[in-house]
Amino acid sequence: MIAAVYPGSFDPMTLGHLDVIKRASKMFDSLTVSVLDNKAKNALFSVEERVNILREATRGLPNVSVDSFNGLLIDYAREKNIHISVRGLRAITDFEYELQIAQTNRKLSQGALDTVFLTTSLEYAYLSSSSVKEIAAFNGDISQCVPEFVAELVKEKFKNL
Ligand code: ADP
Repeated sequence: MIAAVYPGSFDPMTLGHLDVIKRASKMFDSLTVSVLDNKAKNALFSVEERVNILREATRGLPNVSVDSFNGLLIDYAREKNIHISVRGLRAITDFEYELQIAQTNRKLSQGALDTVFLTTSLEYAYLSSSSVKEIAAFNGDISQCVPEFVAELVKEKFKNL
């Protein structure tokens, strides 16, 4: 059985993330989408809220589960007995950063954790959680960027900020 983890901030999950989740779920027997509890990043949604959004969005995908973690990905993956990390590549600008993370994880885990990259579907290549937040902060339309229920939650957040 081949298990993979898709780690990220998912603040909030976008249609680009969901596209990677759907495609990866077809490649592996099980996929754990795991929200990194990164205290250093000033997040819009709490980890619990991000986990709930991902659970709702992946409800129809039986081999996908949602979790959260803090600390090093390699420690989390070892605990879960997972040897593959999935990451998305949007543009060449993602490459250097992602290459560094992938190589560090492989080195630190002594080869136990490898990374599989999925290139983004073209229609989502421009999408990022930060741009979604930026558009929403100025009351812009984010309905092309996130599922409908997420757009509502983002709007609510900015209303109450
Ligand atoms: P992080 O803060 O760890 O980069 P993100 O939630 O921003 O977390 O992204 C998680 C992963 O999803 C990263 O590998 C990122 O490149 C990828 N990703 C983000 N947006 C998209 C998109 N629109 N299409 C494909 N992959 C994406």
